[in-house]
Amino acid sequence: MSRFRPPGDCPVCGSHVPAGRKSCPDCGASAEAGWNEDAAYDGVDLPDESFDYNAYLEREFGPPKVRMNRRTLWVVTAIVLFFALGAGWWWF
Ligand SMILES: [Zn+2]
Repeated sequence: MSRFRPPGDCPVCGSHVPAGRKSCPDCGASAEAGWNEDAAYDGVDLPDESFDYNAYLEREFGPPKVRMNRRTLWVVTAIVLFFALGAGWWWF
């Protein structure tokens, strides 16, 4: 739950937390309380997670627009072939 570990900057108030401390000397946030990280950074964490998910999709499958266009192209090609074959049966 608590990703922050001293030494480093307190995720709640930004003060430096020395190594070995289990709580912030400035605001009192502690590892047991999760450094209040979820409450303080809830609005920041959610967009970051969705951005990472989109970046993962782009790495695996390419940009969404290209993926959409390629799929649309295949659908159009299938429809054209279907009607071309259908017209061929009618003509012959
Ligand atoms: Zn603090």
